[in-house]
Amino acid sequence: MRRLFAFAFLLSFLVGCNSGENPSTSNASDSQDSGKELTYPIQAAATVGMVADLIKNVGGDHVNVTQIMGSGVDPHMHKATRDDVQTIMNADIVFYSGLMLEGKMADTLIKVSRNKPVYAVTELIDEKTLLEPDDFDGHYDPHVWMDVAAWSECVDAVQTALSNFNPTHAKDYQENAKAYKQQLENLHQYGLKIVKSIPEESRILVTSHDAFNYFGRAYGLNVQGVQGISTESEAGLKRINELVNMLVNKNIKAVFVESSVSKKNITALIDGAKAQGHDIIIGGELFSDAMGEPDTYEGTYIGMLDHNFTTVTRALGGTAPERGMQDKLSH
Ligand SMILES: [Zn+2]
Repeated sequence: MRRLFAFAFLLSFLVGCNSGENPSTSNASDSQDSGKELTYPIQAAATVGMVADLIKNVGGDHVNVTQIMGSGVDPHMHKATRDDVQTIMNADIVFYSGLMLEGKMADTLIKVSRNKPVYAVTELIDEKTLLEPDDFDGHYDPHVWMDVAAWSECVDAVQTALSNFNPTHAKDYQENAKAYKQQLENLHQYGLKIVKSIPEESRILVTSHDAFNYFGRAYGLNVQGVQGISTESEAGLKRINELVNMLVNKNIKAVFVESSVSKKNITALIDGAKAQGHDIIIGGELFSDAMGEPDTYEGTYIGMLDHNFTTVTRALGGTAPERGMQDKLSH
């Protein structure tokens, strides 16, 4: 980390030199406020896809967003690479999700915040909205984007940040934010409506990761995770058996996997239920900590959530259009 800091310092010094000014009166943090000409588009760096998407929607044409972690990356585990540091150093303004989602990048983000504006988009979310599950060791659950209404509050944080940095276009950011919040409201209502079409006793979401607590709370699903369960240990087997009995007794037809997590525990559930004469299918793959591929509908925040709502609803016996809210899902 010490080496990283030295590298960062060196870079900000070089930026100062290249601008042809005295380094002691100029550094990379200069914005319009300090009189330096801002070049457009503003360069923003964002950690994960969900955050990058927020900035794109609020920033519009005035902002160019570089996303640090791609679609297959686990944000809980990702450490800043040399390229990431370069991206952050080149940016005028930096956004991350926060609530310790990017736990391994915290040091880098704190250091950079001494030289340029760095914002956690979840900063303005009311604490009462945040969950603090037992197995999160006293920390808030960071997966807030799974509740569209809560994530919508992040739009305000981005609008404020961009308006402070670039007051000239504050009105545009305000209009973009308003329009995007309307789209998110439509998405939220769609989720509420279709999840309610699942028979009440079937509103149980069994999945392999602990990312769905907000999703369950917001849309009325009982979420059961099997992450971290070792099928080799006695305790693990006990938990698997409990879940199998629940799936059989409640006649649940589907469980879900995520692209980033091992399917082993989910397979153990399916096999266990089958041994009791109850067939379960994998209801589909859900997006949890990363969006789909770039330049696809699922590679946007709205597409990601539309996919999750639609997939869960259809697999658990509810009614939803095959290609989702806007007829744009790829399958
Ligand atoms: Zn996660």
